[in-house]
Amino acid sequence: MINFLSTELNDELILISSLHGRWKVLEKKEFEKIKKNEINSSLIKELTEKGLILTEKNKIRILNEFSSKNDFILNHTSSFIFGTTNRCSHNCIYCCSMSTNEKNDETDMDFKVAKKIIDFSFNSPSRKIIFEFQGGEPLLNFKLIKEASKYIKNKNKKLGKKIIFNIATNLEYMDEDKLDFLVNNKFNIGTSLDGPEFIHNKNRKLNSNNWNKNYEKVRYWMSFAKKKYNYEINPTLVITSKSLNHHKDIIDEYVKNEFSSIHIKPMIYCGRAYENWEEVGYTPKEFFNFWKKSIDYIYKINKKGKLFFDTRTLIIILKILGKEKKFMCLKKPCGAFFTQLSFDNKGNIYPCDSARSETSLIIGNVFKDSYKNLREKYFKVFLKDLLPNNIECQNCAFLPFCHSCYTSNKMMLKKNSDSNEKNNFYCELNKLTLKYIFSNLHSNREFRWLISSWIKKLKIGNFNG
Ligand code: SF4
Ligand code: SF4
Repeated sequence: MINFLSTELNDELILISSLHGRWKVLEKKEFEKIKKNEINSSLIKELTEKGLILTEKNKIRILNEFSSKNDFILNHTSSFIFGTTNRCSHNCIYCCSMSTNEKNDETDMDFKVAKKIIDFSFNSPSRKIIFEFQGGEPLLNFKLIKEASKYIKNKNKKLGKKIIFNIATNLEYMDEDKLDFLVNNKFNIGTSLDGPEFIHNKNRKLNSNNWNKNYEKVRYWMSFAKKKYNYEINPTLVITSKSLNHHKDIIDEYVKNEFSSIHIKPMIYCGRAYENWEEVGYTPKEFFNFWKKSIDYIYKINKKGKLFFDTRTLIIILKILGKEKKFMCLKKPCGAFFTQLSFDNKGNIYPCDSARSETSLIIGNVFKDSYKNLREKYFKVFLKDLLPNNIECQNCAFLPFCHSCYTSNKMMLKKNSDSNEKNNFYCELNKLTLKYIFSNLHSNREFRWLISSWIKKLKIGNFNG
């Protein structure tokens, strides 16, 4: 029995795939033969092995492969994010948390709320718990970070879980004492680097009219941490409309700072990006073109012998090859609720940190809800993204590899009630990206070379695309 969906990649190629994540790219004439039942024995063998033809013999194996591909939804939430404060020195044009003026401390989280969040989070049965301090600018409420991390460590003495601390900071308020504390307490420090100075400072404006020197600060502290502690502060990149003509400048900036990767992802449609989309946003096609040009440029860098990769592209490809199911923003359903929960200074619970500026997305409060009852109440609600109930997705061969962003989808729906999973930004971007990746994996030697060299150099296994 045939067990695949089919979607045209271009005039010559068709992708066939099944929900358990196996696939094959066929020439159109081969596909026509399958439709007429004129399929040769070696193709029958291959399609049966891949479960694209279902038999009595392979159906249990295929069912198991489907369960294993999606078993992440059974894992308990492991990432808990404190909205440490909404204060910030910056007024970034895409800020998801709608930061407020740095002098207004009303949004600072106090220890009473943080303690309740920590107690709530430790009730997750996950053996690994990530506590992340986000803002606004979390360094503006550093006292809370110290108190909360001390309480977490003490509480964990009895529980013995693996604890990971993360902080996302713009580094504006970093000093040697704070850095000392963060490094000594094994925090992973993430910051923003949107490209060279003229892009970074345009995206990441200061609240005041002072000359924006954030780019200099980011570079200063990244290099200081490296020299003093051999410690790497990891940058995150946001692509806005201001970045679209500068793929080379942005990639060169990452190469210049000795990073071996970049993460080229679309902006989340939330907070200030939602409000300013006309100015800072782009169409899926514009983002896709930026990404495609970036990949061509990254190919040239790798051809010169330097390993440099785009994390998002690599993850999508590993997902296609059945080697990746963890990365929360490239799954369907995504990591909102399943992997992470975020909290504001009143103890309100959001399914993802990107949702923290939107009160309509609150799903509970730590003073009223336990981890267990929240999980029971919302599990099925968030699960429904796994198998969409619209015909277009159900017939789309990209479905097993497709992803979307819970927060962005909700906000798109808020702006336009006609927006839905089959006609929104992510659907269009998925189609463009996956068509490009599958057809190039099939017939572009340079692209195959690039991917296989990443996989080989990063020792992720064999490339059998
Ligand atoms: S959202 Fe779009 S790309 Fe994804 S499965 Fe549905 S129709 Fe296909
Ligand atoms: S809602 Fe968006 S940002 Fe949050 S986990 Fe999902 S994809 Fe990632």
